Amino acid sequence: MTERVVIIGSGPAGWSAAIYAARAELSPVVYEGNIGKPELLPLGQLALTTEVENYAGFPAGDLAGFIRTAVDEKRQAYFPIEEERHAVTGPELMNLMRQQALNFGTRAITDEIVSIDLSKRPFTLKPESGDQIEAHTIIIATGARANYLGLESEERFKNRGVSACAVCDGALPRFRDRPLVVVGGGDSAVEEASYLTKFGSVVYMVHRRDQLRASRIMQERAFENEKLEVLWNTVVEEVLGDDENGLTGVRLRSTKDDSLTDYEAGGMFVAIGHTPNTSFLDGQVATNDKGYVVWQKSFRTNTSVEGVFAAGDVADDHYRQAITSAGTGCMAALDAEHYLVERGL
Ligand SMILES: Cc1cc2nc3c(=O)[nH]c(=O)nc-3n(C[C@H](O)[C@H](O)[C@H](O)COP(=O)(O)OP(=O)(O)OC[C@H]3O[C@@H](n4cnc5c(N)ncnc54)[C@H](O)[C@@H]3O)c2cc1C
Repeated sequence: MTERVVIIGSGPAGWSAAIYAARAELSPVVYEGNIGKPELLPLGQLALTTEVENYAGFPAGDLAGFIRTAVDEKRQAYFPIEEERHAVTGPELMNLMRQQALNFGTRAITDEIVSIDLSKRPFTLKPESGDQIEAHTIIIATGARANYLGLESEERFKNRGVSACAVCDGALPRFRDRPLVVVGGGDSAVEEASYLTKFGSVVYMVHRRDQLRASRIMQERAFENEKLEVLWNTVVEEVLGDDENGLTGVRLRSTKDDSLTDYEAGGMFVAIGHTPNTSFLDGQVATNDKGYVVWQKSFRTNTSVEGVFAAGDVADDHYRQAITSAGTGCMAALDAEHYLVERGL
């Protein structure tokens, strides 16, 4: 049997695509990722975060009661609902999206796609376990991973002061009126640092060189901002903190003389780029120089291969938000439906 729509990835883009495709009676299959591999966990990047305060439609409130009725009881064990009244957490939001897609007939398979063949039609996809499958259309919604420094202490304080997304987390109470640290020297690091000056008492940009990689206009903006200070020729040696307070500071090492200095801080934002999950494509779909899938038409999710669509962070190195991913997931499902109808498939 040839599937009409196979969706690879289970973040906001994948589930939103599935909701639309399922309601259009295309009976989509979602390959949701691999539980055995930390970098390919199901339910996307939000599965690993705490409150999501900026996804429209989810104000803080009595979400616990709603979730108990909306999501299959057996799955609720995977994401403890700690408080009755709260802002939706990442795992809750993702499980609600998943449930909504299943309610309309989506089939979810907990496995990763390791390779695909787009050279002939129908396309073929190879899951890690299980048999090869065929599909008339594919929606790539495999997201991207934020790059981190790789320090053990950084891992310990993720979601407890360490973040890779200022727009997502900057407004949270723990970051307000406290010194904040941004690591990186490109445009997005300057953008994150400038944004964080709204919340932090001061924002230190930690940069390993003596000049920024950011564009001139971004640099001017950074230097004009009185709350932003660049700490040149420094790298993070260790994230400081304890179990009770989470991150409390950073230890910086000078790249010139190896001297160490401790800075008190309420948060550290790592802005050293993202890696899109595209290795399984093996170059069959056009990507940009950073590896992101490139849409071929403005405001359409078509990739360089007809019948293959891309949604979410895997095709977006700019906005990288849950709501934009969900939006493009919807677009990809509508584009795939249109493609199938046009060809009578
Ligand atoms: C810590 C953190 C906090 C964040 N907080 C917010 C926030 O508050 N608000 C906000 O709007 N955004 C936030 N974001 C950003 C947001 O999570 C992303 O923009 C969004 O999740 C992207 O959705 P996506 O569907 O494109 O991909 P992802 O969420 O990245 O999901 C992709 C999924 O595809 C799976 N996958 C990858 N390869 C394969 C394969 N070969 N086969 C099968 N499955 C595969 C992955 O395992 C993953 O589950 C946050 C991100 C992080 C890291």
